[in-house]
Amino acid sequence: MNYETVIGLEIHAEMLTHSKVFCTCTAEFGGEENTRVCPRCSGLPGTLPVFNQGAARLAVKAGLALGCTIHSYSAFDRKNYFYPDLPKAYQITQFTHPICTDGKVDIGSKVIRINRIHIEEDAGKLVHDDYENVSLADYNRCGVPLIEIVTEPDIRSAEEARAFVEQVALRLKYAGVCDAKMEQGSLRCDVNISIMPPGAAEFGTRTEIKNLNSLKSIVRAIEYEYSRQSELLDNGKKVIQQTLHFNENHGTTKPLRSKEEAHDYRYFPEPDIPPILLREEDIAEITASMPEMPADRLARYEKGYGLSEPDAKLLVSNKDLSDFYDAAVQIYPAYKPTASTVLVELLRRLNDAGAAVKDLKFTPADLARVVQLSEEGAVSKNAAKEILRFLFEQGGDPDAIAKEQGYIMDHDTSAVEAAVEEVLAANPKAVAEYKAGSQKVFGFLMGQMCKRLGKSANPQIIRQCLNDGLNKV
Ligand code: ADP
Ligand code: MG
Ligand code: ZN
Repeated sequence: MNYETVIGLEIHAEMLTHSKVFCTCTAEFGGEENTRVCPRCSGLPGTLPVFNQGAARLAVKAGLALGCTIHSYSAFDRKNYFYPDLPKAYQITQFTHPICTDGKVDIGSKVIRINRIHIEEDAGKLVHDDYENVSLADYNRCGVPLIEIVTEPDIRSAEEARAFVEQVALRLKYAGVCDAKMEQGSLRCDVNISIMPPGAAEFGTRTEIKNLNSLKSIVRAIEYEYSRQSELLDNGKKVIQQTLHFNENHGTTKPLRSKEEAHDYRYFPEPDIPPILLREEDIAEITASMPEMPADRLARYEKGYGLSEPDAKLLVSNKDLSDFYDAAVQIYPAYKPTASTVLVELLRRLNDAGAAVKDLKFTPADLARVVQLSEEGAVSKNAAKEILRFLFEQGGDPDAIAKEQGYIMDHDTSAVEAAVEEVLAANPKAVAEYKAGSQKVFGFLMGQMCKRLGKSANPQIIRQCLNDGLNKV
C-alpha cells in the first residue's frame, strides 16, 4: 500500500558568536581537544553562567529571517540528563518560554510552519576509538550557542524536507546567524517521521532519526524509514515510537531508545540566569540591522539587473559567490556579462578545483576589470576567459596579464579600413542593395570582412569601420 509521509524537523544551528553562550571561551570550530574550555563550560561545581547577549541578538535575527514572532520575554530552563559529553549533567535550554515562535518558510511548492526557535547550549563531542576500544571526551564544543528550530509536521516528502533545510540554511547564512556547514556539524537535523493512509484523519506513530549531518543523509534516512514503516503496516504490525540512529554506511536506522525508556528531563526554570527581556526598540533595532535576505536579493537580480531566473537563483543559492558578484558589479556594473562570467567560467573552475570563493587568489575588482576589458573591446571574449584562468591559477593584475600575454587587441584601425575599401569595391551589388535599404546584406559584408581579417580582429571595430565606410559611399 502507498502511504502518506508526515515529517517534522528539528534543526540545530550553531550561532556565530565569538565566545560561548555562558562563558568567555572562544566558540570557534575546531582547536586541539579540550583547549577551549574553562571551569564554567566544563561544568565544575560552584561556577555561574553569564549569558552572552550576542546570542540573543542572533536568535532574534534567526526568528526574523524565518518569519517568526519575537517574544519580549523568554527564559532558560534546565534539561536534566547524564551523558559523558555533557559534564554538568544538564543542558541549559529554553522550554516554556522560547525566544521565537510561529514562523513560516516558503519552499516554493508550499509554506512550512515553524513551531518555535529556542536558544540552548551545545554539548561536547565523544570521539570513539574502536582500535583502542575507548571513547574520548572533547569539551571544546560545550557551551557553543545553538538555536533549535522546530517545525510543525507540514513536510510530506524527502524532497520537501531537503528543500526546507536548504532554505533555512541559506537564510541563516544570509542573516549572519550560522555558517550552516553541515559537514562541520554547525547545522544538524533530527527527522520526525510517520506514515498514514492517504487522507487519514490522524497521523501515524512517529519515529525520530537523530543528528543527520548532510542533505543526502536526510533524504536517505527518510526513504529508508518510509520503507521500513510501510513494511510494518503492510504486515499488520505497529510502528513503535522510537529514537533512531541512521547508519551512513548501511543506509539503515537502528533504535537508540524507545518511548518507554525515554528520558524524563525534569525541566525546571534555570535559577542562575535571569530571563531575556527585549524592549520594543531592541527588536526594532535588530530588525533594522538585518542584512538583505535571499528573496530580496533574487528580486534585485531579476528585476534590477535583468538576470534570468535560473541565473539569479543559482547565484543567490551560493552566498559567497553572490557576494563576490555584488562587489564586482559595484565597481563595473555590467550585470549580465559579469553574471555569466561568474556562473560559467568561475563556478566551473571552483567546482573542478573543489575550491571555495574565500580561497580565490583575486578580488572582485579584478573580476570587474576583466569584464570591463572584454566589454570595452580591449580584449576578445576568449582572451577574457584566459585572463580569468590566469587569475584563478596564480592571481595577478588583469591589465598586466593582458599585456604580457598579448591579449590586447590591435586598435590601429588602418588594416580594417583598408579591408573595408577592398570589400566595398569587390561587392558593388551588395553595397547598392544596402543603400536601397536592405539591412540583410550588412551581415554578408561583415562576413567578407572577417574572412579577410581573420579571427583576431575585434568584431566591434570591424562593424564600426564597415558602417563608416558604407556611410561614406
Ligand atoms: P517532542 O517534544 O517529543 O520532541 P514535539 O511535539 O515537539 O515532540 O514534536 C517534535 C517534532 O515532531 C516536531 O517537528 C513535530 O512537527 C514532529 N511531529 C509530531 N508528531 C508527528 C507525527 N505524527 N509524524 C511526524 N512528525 C511529527
Ligand atoms: Mg524532539
Ligand atoms: Zn568556557
